[in-house]
Order: sequence, then C-alpha cells, then structure tokens
Amino acid sequence: MRDGMIESDVLVVGGGLVGLSLGIGLAQGGLDVVVVDREAPASQTLPAFDGRVSAIAHASRQALQALGIWRHLEAAEPILDIRVTDGTSPLFVHYDHREVGAEPFGHMVENRHLRLALQGAVNETPGLRLLAPAAVTVLERRPAAVHARLADGRTVRAALVVGAEGRNSPTREAAGIRTTTWSYGQAGIVCTVGHERPHQGVAQERFLPAGPFAILPMTGSRSSLVWTEREDLAAALLALPEAEFLAELGRRFGDYLGKLEVEGPRWSYPLSFLHAERYIDHRLALAGDAAHGIHPISGQGLNLGLRDVATLVEILVGQARLGLDLGDPLALAAYERWRRVDTFVLGAITDGLNRLFSNDIAPVRLVRDLGLGIVEQLPPLKRVFMRHARGDMGDLPGLLRGEPV
Ligand SMILES: Cc1cc2nc3c(=O)[nH]c(=O)nc-3n(C[C@H](O)[C@H](O)[C@H](O)COP(=O)(O)OP(=O)(O)OC[C@H]3O[C@@H](n4cnc5c(N)ncnc54)[C@H](O)[C@@H]3O)c2cc1C
Repeated sequence: MRDGMIESDVLVVGGGLVGLSLGIGLAQGGLDVVVVDREAPASQTLPAFDGRVSAIAHASRQALQALGIWRHLEAAEPILDIRVTDGTSPLFVHYDHREVGAEPFGHMVENRHLRLALQGAVNETPGLRLLAPAAVTVLERRPAAVHARLADGRTVRAALVVGAEGRNSPTREAAGIRTTTWSYGQAGIVCTVGHERPHQGVAQERFLPAGPFAILPMTGSRSSLVWTEREDLAAALLALPEAEFLAELGRRFGDYLGKLEVEGPRWSYPLSFLHAERYIDHRLALAGDAAHGIHPISGQGLNLGLRDVATLVEILVGQARLGLDLGDPLALAAYERWRRVDTFVLGAITDGLNRLFSNDIAPVRLVRDLGLGIVEQLPPLKRVFMRHARGDMGDLPGLLRGEPV
C-alpha cells in the first residue's frame, strides 16, 4: 500500500457467500485479492440464525472441500432422498441417491455457519484482504486498470473488478448492464420446524396450488421449510398467532413426522427472477445473484453462484500463471460462455416449474401428473434429474470436481 493506494490483482465488491468464496479461491491460486463489503463481518462467534438454510449440491460441497472450508461445517445434514409430489395426487417421483452413487445429493447448511466458516478462512488466506464495513464511492474502469475510491479515502487498484453484491448490484448498474427481471408475486416463508420422528435425510418438494412447499432435512429432528405463498397471503400468514400459524403449516406438512413445533421466528423473502444481459464488460465480471437470481423452487441459487466462483478461479488463476492480463476480454468472454447457458437454462427450468405447478387448473394438473408418472417410470430420465440435483452435469471446472486450486 502507498499513499492510501491498495494494489491488488482482483477487487471483489460484495463479500457475501459468493464474493468471499471467490476471494478465497483466487488468493489460494496466488492472486492478491481485496474484497469490499458494506456490512461489518460477523464476530468470531456464530451470528444469530436468520432463517436461511441452503441446499449445497454435491459438486458445490466438493468445491468447498477443495477450498478447505467444508471441514469447518460440522452441522451439515445430508440429503439422501428427494420426494416430489403434486398436491394430494398419489403420483410422486422418488429420487434415491444410491441410484447415482454413494454420495448424498447434497447437504443442508445454515447460511450463518457457512458465512462464519468463510470468514474464518479469510483470516488464514495470505494475499486476501477483507475491507468491511467499507463502501466504493467511485469506480473507474480505465484502459489498463480499475481504480475504486472508498468512502474512507483509500483507493484500490486492480486489473479486474468482480461485482458480487447480490441482486441490486451497483457495479452492474454503473456499467449499464441491463437485466431481465420480474416478480413472481410470491413470497417464500422460511422457518424451522421441530418434529417427533426423524426425517431420515428425506427432502420433500410438494407442489401446492399457491406454489412449492419444501421440507428440507436439518440436523437433529428438525427441518427447514421454504413455503411459497401469494405475497398478500404470506403477509397474513406471518401475522397469525403461533397456534394458528402452526395449524396452517400442519395442514400442508401432514403428520408423517408426528407432532410439529415451530422453532424460532418466521421470515419471508419476496421472490423474483433476474438475469443480466451480459456477465462481463471492460475489466468487469459479475458473479452470483448480481448476474442471476432464480426462484428457490430447486434450491440452486447459491449453487449457481459457486459454479461462477469455480469457473472464474479456473480462468483467472490460469491467466495469472501464464503472466497474462486478468482483464483480457478473451478470458472474460470465456467465463461468460462457460456460465451463461447453464444459468439461463436452470433459470428457465425453475421459472417453468413454478408456473406449471403453482396453480390448480384441472387439465394442467393432469398433464403434470402424467409428467411425474413418466419420470418415475423412466430410469434414464430420472438419473439425468438426479445428476442435476447433485450439480455434476456438464463440463465442470476443477474446484467442482474437488481439485484444489
Ligand atoms: C427463501 C430462499 C431460499 C433459498 N434456498 C437456497 C438453497 O437451498 N440453495 C441454494 O443454492 N440457494 C438458495 N437460495 C439462493 C441463495 O440464497 C442466493 O443465491 C445466494 O445467497 C446469493 O449469494 P450472493 O453472495 O451472490 O449474494 P448475497 O447473499 O445477496 O450477498 C451480497 C453481499 O454483498 C454485500 N453488498 C451489497 N451491496 C453492497 C455494496 N454496495 N457494496 C459492498 N457490498 C455490498 C452484502 O452485504 C452481502 O454481503 C435461496 C434464496 C431464498 C430467497
């Protein structure tokens, strides 16, 4: 650092789960990285539970293992089976992880545990600096470098800036990158439910008329609920007294796990779709929700972000090892090509599934039940869906195959 100028290879704006993972991966590959986040880091003790629990697909777990983060995540619950049902229809699809290998489909991890593990790793990674709380006030992308002025007067100089500030990314907006976006008019009610009987590692996805109702296994006899409802109804449900809320929840959950109780508060997230028209610009790349935000129906948003991380690490560390410019347009174009189709296809599938299943129109119900029946009867098709759930389809960068940087 000289005269308030911090020299680095890559500046990552946004130190969420995606931005921190990216910073760690790039620094492990020998790059100097600065991550800027507007929020102060959580203390070394576990932050308060904010309701969010993520399904980390098998391939994402391999990446977190290769980055040395997974070993700090003891409280991860394996997802062994997935059951998909359409309302009260007797037809359902049952995915058993043993049909595609010995490993679980993925693990359920509380976001606060993952954030703490990532923050712990930041302190142990040479070449990585987390500036938080801090804010970028001016971002200039000059021909040969990026200059970012911070609110405290310092400047960060880097060859490349990555916008990872989530859906409302100022880096994306300042670059004039437009997005395709729409609201689902739905909210995801999120809460933790304790139950009498063990869940046996089974995740349930129920398609109810208002939207999907997911029951996801957590450690102990607990499950995390992602309960999609129309926005206005969700607000009314959240305002119900405890006993009435539990009764509404129980009607959808059923009694297969015995007596239920809601543990802790209830949260609600508005649900929308977002896809950036470009993931790159001059000396700029977008990663995670800054580039794409999808419906949580398939629990894949963070997994997509971790796939961006693995791809950027592979390309940028490769560039650095050859002594090439990290802002090289060809390298950035390779990133966009590698990631765009995958995210667009998954975004479209989750959008289509949500539209197809979030209604109770009889002919539509008939068609989708036939569809579920066909999937159940066709093992090769089922295996394709199961490999998608594990996240190990297609051309994977090394981190997603579990190879250290
Ligand atoms: C109900 C629900 C359930 C979900 N379940 C799953 C699941 O099971 N599996 C899954 O894979 N995904 C799931 N997702 C999606 C997942 O939560 C997101 O895709 C993921 O959190 C995106 O991470 P991110 O780091 O890109 O963005 P964010 O988590 O939004 O992080 C952005 C970071 O940038 C910082 N920031 C913002 N603005 C600025 C700024 N101007 N300057 C500096 N820093 C800034 C913020 O402080 C934050 O730290 C779910 C989402 C919802 C709503």
